[in-house]
Amino acid sequence: MREPSQDMTEELRHQLIVAALRARERAYVPYSGYPVGAALLTDTGAVYTGCNIEIASYGATVCGERTAAFKAVSEGERVFRAIAIVTSNGAAPCGICRQVLYEFGPSMTVMLATPDGEITWEGPLSDLLPLGFGPHELAEGQRAGS
Ligand code: ZN
Repeated sequence: MREPSQDMTEELRHQLIVAALRARERAYVPYSGYPVGAALLTDTGAVYTGCNIEIASYGATVCGERTAAFKAVSEGERVFRAIAIVTSNGAAPCGICRQVLYEFGPSMTVMLATPDGEITWEGPLSDLLPLGFGPHELAEGQRAGS
């Protein structure tokens, strides 16, 4: 496990993991049987939860992390601070979710945990998505004029 992030208190970690655990209980996963729960903290202090939702037409399936992210953004949030993700094996988010999180929190903290609340990894999103492509790239490209 990495060195814990300085701006995350133990209480905050616990709060996010408990929220992610509860969200995981609501996962709709009739096909994979792999429930995921996520709890996303924004810069306003609000927490948004999400679970994965599988659809019989598989391409319409959405991950728990993106459910939480889109709930937050649709409520007006624009800056992500941290996310706790609970899976049976403490897995890291998929590439699509890393990209979505990067849009609103390139320096956010990611915590991965198992259902017993053990944090298996904690670190900055930039460790999961090095050299990420985000809004700044488009802004720089526009200034470059081509
Ligand atoms: Zn994902």
